[in-house]
Amino acid sequence: MQLDAKIPGGQLAEKWDRYRFELKLVNPANKRKFEVIVVGSGLAGGSASASLAELGYNVKTFCIQDSPRRAHSIAAQGGINAAKNYTNEGDSIWRLFYDTIKGGDFRAREANVYRLAQVSNNIIDQCVAQGVPFARDYGGLLANRSFGGAQVQRTFYARGQIGQQLLLGAYSALMRQVGTGKVKMFSRREMLDVVVINGQARGIVTRNLITGEIETHSGDAVVLCTGGYGNVYFLSTNAMASNVTAAFRAYKKGAYFANPCFTQIHPTCIPVHGDYQSKLTLMSESLRNDGRVWVPKNQGDKRRPHQILESERDYYLENKYPSFGNLVPRDVASRNAKEQCDMGKGVSETGLAVYLDFEDAIKRDGKDAIEKKYGNLFQMYEKITAENPYETPMMIYPAIHYAMGGLWVDYNLMSTIDGLFVLGEANFSDHGANRLGASALMQGLADGYFVLPYTIGGYLAGTPLEEVTTGHSAFKESVTSVNNHVEKLLSIKGKRTVDDFHKQLGHIMWDYCGMARNNERMKKAKGMIQQLRAEFWENVLVPGSGKDFNQSLERAGRVADFLEFGELLLIDALSRQESCGGHFNEAYQTEENEALRDDENFCHVSAWEFAGKDKEPVLNKEELKFENVELTQRSYK
Ligand SMILES: Cc1cc2nc3c(=O)[nH]c(=O)nc-3n(C[C@H](O)[C@H](O)[C@H](O)COP(=O)(O)OP(=O)(O)OC[C@H]3O[C@@H](n4cnc5c(N)ncnc54)[C@H](O)[C@@H]3O)c2cc1C
Repeated sequence: MQLDAKIPGGQLAEKWDRYRFELKLVNPANKRKFEVIVVGSGLAGGSASASLAELGYNVKTFCIQDSPRRAHSIAAQGGINAAKNYTNEGDSIWRLFYDTIKGGDFRAREANVYRLAQVSNNIIDQCVAQGVPFARDYGGLLANRSFGGAQVQRTFYARGQIGQQLLLGAYSALMRQVGTGKVKMFSRREMLDVVVINGQARGIVTRNLITGEIETHSGDAVVLCTGGYGNVYFLSTNAMASNVTAAFRAYKKGAYFANPCFTQIHPTCIPVHGDYQSKLTLMSESLRNDGRVWVPKNQGDKRRPHQILESERDYYLENKYPSFGNLVPRDVASRNAKEQCDMGKGVSETGLAVYLDFEDAIKRDGKDAIEKKYGNLFQMYEKITAENPYETPMMIYPAIHYAMGGLWVDYNLMSTIDGLFVLGEANFSDHGANRLGASALMQGLADGYFVLPYTIGGYLAGTPLEEVTTGHSAFKESVTSVNNHVEKLLSIKGKRTVDDFHKQLGHIMWDYCGMARNNERMKKAKGMIQQLRAEFWENVLVPGSGKDFNQSLERAGRVADFLEFGELLLIDALSRQESCGGHFNEAYQTEENEALRDDENFCHVSAWEFAGKDKEPVLNKEELKFENVELTQRSYK
């Protein structure tokens, strides 16, 4: 299929305005005739549902959790970017656009990223109007701090709880619409299939996670806001329920999956402590505003940090990247931490950690000031590690955190299935090969509050939609296939738990396709995953029944999808014979060990098409055109 991103013509800065003018409108009285299904109620789904209902559409919103307030978005710690330039440091829409394109190692679309920077300012206004309690400076203006890959302070924050505060804002807007009856909220529902009729997404099949009932829902369009797939690595900073199921099942119905190998490894997480862990904890990037990253200069130095003199410490990020220092982007900081540990300079019992030290900041600004900015993060760190970070440097190590890849979408955020829109972390749209900190929330809310509400109108107004009910044969086929899948999982009655398979998959993914990748190992991993998948379908143990609350069954379905998706990720990584952003193939690096792109052969989005069970997926390419920025080797020196 020829991929058409539908990027409007004209000057970069005018594209979005012109496009919005050209889009067909649904007149206010007609909006109530349409029904839109939104799957997911995190920041992307919550904001989209609320905005669509506010416009007059009828919305049905679904989520796995018991309340939208428990979406993974709530975990976001550090902040959200916008080009307000409140700090008077010379920020602008152009600068935010440029930093984001460069931060993504020139693997994102110019038009999308520019639009994102443009609407970033509206997001802050919207959230302030909702009462989101952003931190303020002494004069009462909203305060800003720095995040990686930028030399201006443009990150709006609420201590270390930005996700919670933004989600409360979106949730209030959503619940207002639930109150008016424009949104019907279906919590504890898992979407297990998308129903496509005449090439258009016209509904979904869900499982009621409390009763086990398989349910069908029809609509005029379906919007997936189901988050990222980082948990394919088992251990990640993502919420335990984060999964790829909705996106992957849509992929199997014809939605292309773009750049699955672009996964983000966050440099500052609490290191793995043992084999019993099922989750990792992030220590927000915002901490690198004040924390200094270092390792002992001597290999194998096992002294306590306070015993290591200043002259014996290597502040390797500050030394190597003087312009950006500790605030280099995540991919760069992660690789450097790994490099130090590989050289034997890592700290902690495992040798897989580096220090993040606040001693100088506390001396300079006082403990109170540091506590005000990061108090809850320090408390979280102390609870988990039993070390007091005001007195002893934090120990941190990179971990899987975010998915830049996702379902392919055009400028309208529509996938390759007509009427199936994809928002937030679930799509691939704006971050290229590496997302800059504080840009995920910006993108999710831009999609939900300010992009979809226009583009979906263009689709609904301009597309003939036949009358469809859940009695249609396509719904029946879908229900049969979902039931078969559930019954198959329950019937195996093997000896290994779902978690056991998930953990093994995670080990393969991390060891063979993690921070550093090489072709031989990736090829080997592909075979290992195929074997593991075969064993899963013969030997997994899923106790209980399908007609009941059954978390093992829920997990089994998600892990079954991860076992297929993991292979797709490897296929994508193997096909991209270059290094860029978070995708670091050891064969392609500069003399200074930075990622070496191959713009001649790989300046494209890889969009994978499902070709059938046990068949290699088909690669479709969307060439990326850079008309406004020059492709350069990224440098943060
Ligand atoms: C610890 C942590 C801290 C972070 N901090 C920041 C930060 O400071 N700044 C920043 O910009 N970004 C941050 N991020 C990234 C950011 O939080 C996420 O990218 C973003 O919140 C994702 O929002 P979303 O709405 O796309 O998805 P989510 O919030 O993951 O929501 C997914 C929704 O989909 C539902 N769902 C999933 N699958 C199904 C299914 N099959 N059926 C029905 N419903 C389904 C879920 O129930 C949920 O409602 C952080 C991430 C982590 C892990």
